[in-house]
Amino acid sequence: MPELVESISCPKCGGPLTLAPGEVIVTCPYCGTASRFQGNKPFILRHSMLTARVDRDGALRILEGWMDGGVMKPDDLRKASRVTSLECTYLPFYVFEVDATTNYVGVLTRTGTNERRTGDLRRDFFWKILARRSGDFPTREFKLPLAFKVPFDTGGMVRDSRFLNAEVDEDEADRIAREQVDDHQRELLRDLVDTVESARTSIEVKDAEFLHAPIWFSSYTYRDRSYPILIDAASGEVIRGEIPPPSGGFGEFVKGAARDLFRR
Ligand SMILES: [Zn+2]
Repeated sequence: MPELVESISCPKCGGPLTLAPGEVIVTCPYCGTASRFQGNKPFILRHSMLTARVDRDGALRILEGWMDGGVMKPDDLRKASRVTSLECTYLPFYVFEVDATTNYVGVLTRTGTNERRTGDLRRDFFWKILARRSGDFPTREFKLPLAFKVPFDTGGMVRDSRFLNAEVDEDEADRIAREQVDDHQRELLRDLVDTVESARTSIEVKDAEFLHAPIWFSSYTYRDRSYPILIDAASGEVIRGEIPPPSGGFGEFVKGAARDLFRR
């Protein structure tokens, strides 16, 4: 059991809360209130969750469908695989509604002429920041379907699921989001100019939201090896699934041969 930093209680219902080392925002397991503890005054946050529309059976069906489909997978993937774990965990995220404008000066060389370009690159985003420090969750690949957003309610959670508290507070998340948006804008500039002479991005955060998103964390074994797969429990999409290398079976030999035949 993790060592508790201090003994605290929920500012809304008075229930006892446990704050593990590194956690800065705790969600009350009794009433679902999220509070930030800094000094001795708790601060209550607006807090949402995404509705889980995929239960355990649904997650299994999605897993099987994923194994059946796609050209890069071994032919016997579904038949020869065994699902070894399947757990639903609610991960904490911040979502920032951001307007970004990058004023740039650069040179376009790809046309053969050194053409100087200036302009404003304007974009708006819903930018996601995972509020945990550990783990290699693919936040950028995760679409985070905001259409399924509802107020946080422990009664509406998937049975036997758990939620993780936030280790990153909203101020730090805001800083990270601004840095990432700035980097992203610079990447987008590459479509417009080949050499960037100057780029200044101004970022306006219009709204910030703290929410928990339900994810099915699963792993399966195939030929004595284990592979992870993540399913968005709100949308039902596979966020990321690891595919075993080709087994070299007869079916794949035929597919490969046919590919070679028709390629030329
Ligand atoms: Zn409470």
